[in-house]
Amino acid sequence: MNVTEQLLRVFQVDQQIRGLQSRLNAADTFLKAQQKDLAEIAAARKAVEATLMQHTLAASDNEGEVKRLDEKLSQLRSQMNTAQTNKEYQAFLSELNTFKTTRDKHETTALEAMSKVEELRKQIADLDAKAQQREQVRDVALKERDARFAEIETRLNELKAERDKHAAEVPPEDMRMFQRLLDQRGDAAMGSVEIIDRKRHEYNCGVCYMALPMESVSGLLSGGKLTRCSSCQCVLYLNADAMKAMQPSNSKR
Ligand SMILES: [Zn+2]
Repeated sequence: MNVTEQLLRVFQVDQQIRGLQSRLNAADTFLKAQQKDLAEIAAARKAVEATLMQHTLAASDNEGEVKRLDEKLSQLRSQMNTAQTNKEYQAFLSELNTFKTTRDKHETTALEAMSKVEELRKQIADLDAKAQQREQVRDVALKERDARFAEIETRLNELKAERDKHAAEVPPEDMRMFQRLLDQRGDAAMGSVEIIDRKRHEYNCGVCYMALPMESVSGLLSGGKLTRCSSCQCVLYLNADAMKAMQPSNSKR
């Protein structure tokens, strides 16, 4: 077996592995999207909770002030009843009005904070409902991913073992070069030679469709010499049909 055939064997097993993994990848991508959504919902909930805490504190502080000022006001009212002169009475009244204005401001702020608290509680309930729904989808996605994985796991491990065995037979330097190509280009790491016109010696690279010189093809034909497309750098090979068409017995002179 020449080096091109060795590489082709690795390439074909690799394609099967990628095909299996792409099915798993779709399920995995869907699962990850659900997990991301859940994380976003959780982060949004945390932010709403922090705001809720602020408004709850504001409501309670202002309610406390209202209570304190109410006591102050009832104290002033009883003092007013004991006022000896009109001047004294007017002074109490003025003080009372000032306290009352402050008290009303605190009451308004407390009410605003309370309504904000209610609104934020509703937001949290909405987020919880959304998270619950998303969790159900996530659970289904997780089951689906695990099922897909179980389906292909055995076959995938077989193929990986087969691939390792084939790869070990390729000269290490060539395998390193080819592995880089596989990592970068996947299915476009290797391309078959396409015969455009046999008599005119016109051949194309099956990956990039650029013309190939005759020497590339003859090197492949004679001994499976490691040959790369000068345009796209893929490793070239002759498939069974091309090989057959190129045999001398089939050439018309
Ligand atoms: Zn090419």
